[in-house]
Parts: sequence; structure tokens; C-alpha cells
Amino acid sequence: MNNLASHKITKDIVSKYGFRFTKSLGQNFLVDEHVLSQIVDSAEIDSEDTVIEIGPGIGTLTRELSYRAKQVISIEIDKNLIPILSETLADRDNIKIINQDILKTDLHELVNEFSPDRKVKVVANLPYYITTPIIMRFLEEKVPLKTMVIMIQKEVANRINAVPSTKDYGSLSVAVQYYCDTDIVAKAPKGAFIPEPGVDSAVIKLEVKEDKGIELIDEDLFFEVVKAAFSKRRKTLLNALSTFGNIGGKQEAKMALEIANIDAQLRGETLDMKQFASLANAYAKVLNK
Ligand code: SAM
Repeated sequence: MNNLASHKITKDIVSKYGFRFTKSLGQNFLVDEHVLSQIVDSAEIDSEDTVIEIGPGIGTLTRELSYRAKQVISIEIDKNLIPILSETLADRDNIKIINQDILKTDLHELVNEFSPDRKVKVVANLPYYITTPIIMRFLEEKVPLKTMVIMIQKEVANRINAVPSTKDYGSLSVAVQYYCDTDIVAKAPKGAFIPEPGVDSAVIKLEVKEDKGIELIDEDLFFEVVKAAFSKRRKTLLNALSTFGNIGGKQEAKMALEIANIDAQLRGETLDMKQFASLANAYAKVLNK
């Protein structure tokens, strides 16, 4: 199918059901066939996989996923889309639509119910107003996933994928890269959607690491230290660490930096994952955690 045809199909479905887009639910439906294939291909789905999709909309991506996966479990908050989905996906028998808010869904229960073998991939064109909370919930709650392939705002994708000493590198980069290998696999201009969103988008692939390659004494402390290090981007690490949250003051910061063998005059944004881990482990000793 070409893009013109998929534009027309989407518009026809929307008008047939008198569906009204709710901007606050991030409803921008994908109508670009090339981007659609890029999402599905990069998820490398096989017939054993259970795919969890967040926000199926009118089912465009859901359908493509269902051709490759064992089953697709799609969580959609908008009850007005449920009768539409029953019709657009009527010929598919391996799709389950759940009318629920993903942020209120028990993710472990979801996986246990539909994929006890834990061969789960998340694939979604995410509602942009909750991109980060959705990603971080899956990762922080350690939901047993293999990969997430998700369409998100280009700017957020760049931040997640950023390397040290760049303007996009920040606590989100470190937090996501702690759990996953990251790769931007496609770009999507505004015109790839109906209605057009206000920002460009990108598809990012997050591959959950089996071995994180670093040892942490205290994971919560690691995240606290990372947040502190980025809390004052223009100041030195010593300054940023000395004045943030519950990791002590200047004295503790000096000691931890010394133990970790990190120059106190550096900026937080120059540290890589291993240095953050050494710093957090040094803090654990200083704070006696
Ligand atoms: N997958 C469709 C596509 O690619 O055309 C629609 C994607 S649209 C960007 C986001 C979808 O997420 C919408 O269908 C919206 O109703 C749904 N959604 C928004 N907030 C949600 C939430 N908290 N839980 C589940 N679905 C949500």
C-alpha cells in the first residue's frame, strides 16, 4: 500500500465512526507505510514472540505486528477506539485489545498472564505526553522484556541515545543506557501522521541488557548521584554534587570523587556509565550504605 492509500483509509475510518481526535491523549495516527515497515522490521519479531503494544489507535501497526508475532496484546485507553478496533482487526485472531490506561496497568501481571515464557517485546507509537514515564516504568520495574521499539519525539530519542560530552547527554541517557543498548532506527517527519504532531519523531530500539557490565553497591544511590551530577550543568561536579538531595555536602562529594579518582573540576556531562558507577560506589562507602 502507498502513503496516499493509507492516508485515505485512516481518514475514511475516522469519518465513518465520527471519531474525534483527543489531543491530550497524544492521538497522532501513523500513515507512512515506510516508517511502519521500519518499526516492524527493527523489532525482529518471530512467531514465538508476544508483543505488547501501547495505544493501538485504529489498529494500523497492530495489524502488521499480528502477521509476525504469536500474539499481540494492545492496551488502549480511549474507549471510543474499541468498537473501531473490533472492526478494523476483525479478521485477525491473535490480537487482544485491553481498554485500560497503561500507567495504571500492572505490567508484571500483564506479562505473566499473556507470556509466562517471557518472550515479550514492546512495540508502540507512543502517546508523547507520557513517553518517559512509560519507558521508565518498564525498565525500573524490571519487566522481563527483550526489546522495546518505540516511536517517540525526536528530541527525546536523541537524549536517550546521547553519548557523554554532548548537549543531549543527561540523566535520561544514563538511566536508559544503564538498562539497555540504544539505537535510533528510523526518523519520521510530522507528515507521517494524521493529524500532524507539533514535533518530528524518531523510532528508537532499546535492547534490554542481560549483563549491564557494571557492579553497583546501591542502585538507588547510583540514580541519585547521576541526578545530582546533572543538576547544575554549567557548574563543576563538585559544586553540583555538594548541593543536591540526600547524598551529603561538599565534604562527602570531595571524598567520593577522590575515591573514584575523578577530577572534581569536571562537568557531570563528561562522565560515562563506568565513571558514574565508580562514583556511586564511592559514595556508598562514604555514606556507609
Ligand atoms: N498505534 C497507533 C498508530 O500508530 O497509528 C496510534 C498511536 S497514537 C500516537 C497513541 C495512542 O495511545 C492513541 O491511540 C491513544 O488513545 C493511546 N493512549 C494515550 N494514552 C494512553 C494510555 N495512558 N494508556 C493506553 N493508551 C493510551
